[in-house]
Amino acid sequence: MNDTNDDKLATLVDPFGRRIEYVRLSVTDKCNMRCFYCMPKGFRDFEQKQHWLTFDEIERVIRAFTELGVGRVRLTGGEPLVRKNIAELSRRLTALPGLDDLSLSTNAVLLDKQAEELAQAGISRINVSLDSLNPKKFEDITGGALQPVLDGLMAAREAGLSPIKINMVAMRGINDDEFVDMVDFCLQHGFTLRFIETMPMGATGEKANNHYLDLQKVKQQLAQSFELIPGVMPGGGPARYVQVKNTHLRIGFITPISQHFCESCNRVRLSVDGTLYLCLGQDDKVELRPLLRDGISDDDLKQVLIDAISLKPEKHEFKDKPHQVVRLMSMTGG
Ligand code: SAM
Ligand code: SF4
Repeated sequence: MNDTNDDKLATLVDPFGRRIEYVRLSVTDKCNMRCFYCMPKGFRDFEQKQHWLTFDEIERVIRAFTELGVGRVRLTGGEPLVRKNIAELSRRLTALPGLDDLSLSTNAVLLDKQAEELAQAGISRINVSLDSLNPKKFEDITGGALQPVLDGLMAAREAGLSPIKINMVAMRGINDDEFVDMVDFCLQHGFTLRFIETMPMGATGEKANNHYLDLQKVKQQLAQSFELIPGVMPGGGPARYVQVKNTHLRIGFITPISQHFCESCNRVRLSVDGTLYLCLGQDDKVELRPLLRDGISDDDLKQVLIDAISLKPEKHEFKDKPHQVVRLMSMTGG
């Protein structure tokens, strides 16, 4: 590696020695679902349109990040596919030198129509939220219908998006009778499965917390039906993986509460209004939109990002302070 690269890589290291190489980019705080643990029913207090970063502004910020060594971006929200022309944004971002992984988190409601175009635009990996395979229960959890999500998943597979990871929030008393069914579903369709612990965020935090389930229990439950062996997943992030023996299926466990992974956190989050959040569970932030609209230079923008990283907190405090209200997950980009 030459000196120039060394300089670049050294730039986005936070005070705890963590290298920041991943941006979660929330392209909207709106959503066409209302998962009860994420967004309150009837919630309409969305960011005003004139405050949304434009595609030009997003591209500028992400270019600055890539020049500072960030190679991975995930489009999220809210529901990213409700923002118009996400394929166009994807094309623009994948064209940036240094960005080698553009992925998407979606509820898949609108994926049926967009999967092909997104794949062509350079989206590689996708994560799809799916908490239940039972239409009635799915509707109780999300307020929406299951079938479009299943159609979206099949369209994604047809379009060659890979890997497709199913994100299932494991909830005591809600979907804890469906874990084995979800494993079977993923085996059948060639998807990867990840379980997530509920996090107490925003106005829905208490509801989420009421159904908290330690994923160790989920693993024990699955071990009664499947032979689980240690597994690895390239780009697997904070999930710890097992594999179902003699199958392709990898199962990840994302345990922000029972076993947090803050010491290896490599990411920051940019919300739709241009606020850079340094931690999902803390309020440390830097507002980029006013700077962008006041004509900040590229070099100064990069310096702002470098300075922002020095504000990254050591860890979230979901467990010790579950009643500390931070933003809704849909605002920050989960
Ligand atoms: N709308 C997209 C989706 O549902 O995948 C992307 C945004 S959503 C906020 C990203 C992820 O956050 C989803 O997997 C969702 O299940 C998860 N999530 C939302 N609120 C949560 C909470 N309180 N605890 C744990 N996970 C949560
Ligand atoms: Fe929407 Fe995703 Fe939140 Fe569900 S989890 S309400 S789909 S943003």
